[in-house]
Amino acid sequence: RADAGGQLPDSSRSPPPRVLRVAVPTPLRRLFDYRPCREAPPGGWQPGIRVRVPFGRRQMVAIVMECRDDSDLALADLKPVDAWLDAAPLPEDWFWLCRFTARYYQHPLGDTLHQALPVLLRQGRSLAGRIREQWLVTPSGQAVDAARLKRAPRQAELLTMLRQHPHGLPTQAVLAQSFTREQLQSLVGKGLVERQEAPLTAAGLPASGNLLAEPALPLNREQAAALAAIHERLDAFHPCLLHGVTGSGKTEVYLQLIEAVVDRGRQALLLVPEIGLTPQTLARFRQRFRVPVVALHSGLTDNERLDAWEAVASGRAPIVIGTRSAIFTPLARPGVIIVDEEHDGSFKQHEGLRYHARDLAVARAHHHGIPLVLGSATPSLESLHHASRGDYRHLRLTRRASRHAPARLELVDLRGRPRQGGLIPPVIEAIRETLDAGHQVLVFINRRGFAPTLACHACGWLADCDHCDARMTLHRQPPMLACHHCDKRRPVPDACPACGSADLRPLGSGTERTEETLAALFPQVPVHRIDRDSTRRRDAFETVLNDVRRGGPCLLVGTQMLAKGHHLPHVTLVVVVNADSGLYASDFRALEHSAQLLVQVAGRAGRSSHPGRVLVQTLHDDDPHLRLLAQQGYDALAEHLLAERRAAGLPPFRFLALLRLESPREEAALALAAGAASALREWLKERELRVDCLGPVPAPMERRQNRYHLQLMLASDRRSQLHEACSRLTTWMEATPGARRARWSLDIDPQTL
Ligand code: ADP
Ligand code: ZN
Ligand code: ZN
Repeated sequence: RADAGGQLPDSSRSPPPRVLRVAVPTPLRRLFDYRPCREAPPGGWQPGIRVRVPFGRRQMVAIVMECRDDSDLALADLKPVDAWLDAAPLPEDWFWLCRFTARYYQHPLGDTLHQALPVLLRQGRSLAGRIREQWLVTPSGQAVDAARLKRAPRQAELLTMLRQHPHGLPTQAVLAQSFTREQLQSLVGKGLVERQEAPLTAAGLPASGNLLAEPALPLNREQAAALAAIHERLDAFHPCLLHGVTGSGKTEVYLQLIEAVVDRGRQALLLVPEIGLTPQTLARFRQRFRVPVVALHSGLTDNERLDAWEAVASGRAPIVIGTRSAIFTPLARPGVIIVDEEHDGSFKQHEGLRYHARDLAVARAHHHGIPLVLGSATPSLESLHHASRGDYRHLRLTRRASRHAPARLELVDLRGRPRQGGLIPPVIEAIRETLDAGHQVLVFINRRGFAPTLACHACGWLADCDHCDARMTLHRQPPMLACHHCDKRRPVPDACPACGSADLRPLGSGTERTEETLAALFPQVPVHRIDRDSTRRRDAFETVLNDVRRGGPCLLVGTQMLAKGHHLPHVTLVVVVNADSGLYASDFRALEHSAQLLVQVAGRAGRSSHPGRVLVQTLHDDDPHLRLLAQQGYDALAEHLLAERRAAGLPPFRFLALLRLESPREEAALALAAGAASALREWLKERELRVDCLGPVPAPMERRQNRYHLQLMLASDRRSQLHEACSRLTTWMEATPGARRARWSLDIDPQTL
């Protein structure tokens, strides 16, 4: 490799390969052969080098997968690649992960590689990080008499200016003073000035001494035990489930683990949920360490993303924090992977390359032979199952770092009680008392908009979406009916479209309505609404949170954006407007997910000096699952749900894959799905594979955006057999003419059915 201290491998001298087999970002599950171009990269042709290739009538960035001397096509028919883009192959660990991902999720390799690269690398930009060019006066430039430059007065002025900046001036600063590049070059030519390059993200480990900018907290007994357990084996695959109640100080354990890893010269990768990568979280890490903490999130520009990628891949940045896609960041010296809130749904990508970043983290830590920490107050049933089988080490933190234990859920029966903005009188009373005591209240409602829909009280008409099997949500700010599934919008009608009656009323409550009600009931305190609509401006959310953290009575009304991670020390009462949506949903994971959400929301209460209270409104206060959660907590419910899953033959006891099909024509979708199912069943029988094929059945919302959605489910207790069946299914789909006109996708380990 060219970067290995200038020692090029012999391949640079051996004859070039006759064929480059490359991966191109297309939906086709195959590689393509090209001839090398005349000029070889400085390190010779090697797998992992990006090339530009003619593909159809376009040019594409492709990656060399194999260098070979033969092809299935006649060598004379192969086109040459246009150019090479990398002097050295892309990082090997990244390559391994992409191959693994493509195989495991049965996704085309070319597209997997493409998705796993920063946008600028996909477009062919060089991997060398962006450079800051700067200009310094040389010793002779310091000594020379500027008057000697009297025939070039601007150069003399430039030299005088540069002399005032002994550490150099970046090009932009020079040009901003209306000097030119030519003037700079003339001074360089005279030996008075020199040009220097520094990577923009330059900064690495402090040369010696302390990594820490501020001291670590003394750990409590449980934290210390957990850290010691992880610490026992830092140089082997060592998966741990850090199962700690909300506020138990998991983050402090991560911080001290990262310290130990970085101290050994290794890198740490921390994955956090989309909602968890807040300026507050980042600040906590940046305050602790004197080394750079690179953040990878959706707010970065393409240039910043490339810089970050390069800084981590080169090993200069020892700590990376990122959301889902950060799992694809190459690490020069991997030391630990941590997944915070490992149960969070945002780790799963639901379109295109349908991967789960937590599951890839496990595979990657195994590959590198490093520790893996999965942290959560409400671990996924998958991870709990692994822990109970002894695959993962189960580390528990049962106590909060602050004085008060997390509050129990108090169920409040909604039946037959009048509601205002979704809230019943005793709950409104509890809010009043809390505010009177000078504390803050968080009202959680899982619906944005004003009301879930609009109804006619004369004839029963409901505002249905024309394109989906769904109701349109009523919004007031601005006023409209909007479908949250296809984004169709309509003006709010003045009269019922069915019977003409003017008696149209909002049905149920969303965040806007609850906010309006609370503002009317408590005019003396501020009411902050937090949902996707109120936080479109990037910093709006942080501004509100900073306000709230200062203290003083206030009301927070919001969706799950508020539920996770945020430290809200003055909130002592949490109200859940309605806990029922997940109780009777058709999806087998719905209960697990709504229990996790309830516990996370409840965890916002009582984080500092005052104990907290959590009121959960429900129409089903006798529901056995909800009762178990309220009375015995998440762990007891999880155990119960695991027993149910085992009995029903569902994950984590069996493995699932889902083929999703959609078409504008219902019959076309049905015929295709039925064809796929029968072809697969026949093949399974022939092979005597233990894979069940269920369906096709309509998807939970059959009509979405005027397209019909069907699905076929594959289930097996053998992962390898399930994969064989999936592979067969994709081959069949690709070979079937009807499938090319429909949209279809395969989802391995689907999170929702
Ligand atoms: P979690 O990630 O488990 O929800 P955090 O790590 O955010 O919990 O910790 C919750 C609060 O407790 C934070 O304010 C943190 O500073 C504090 N904390 C954590 N560990 C300790 C400790 N050992 N001593 C004192 N305070 C601690
Ligand atoms: Zn009507
Ligand atoms: Zn719709």
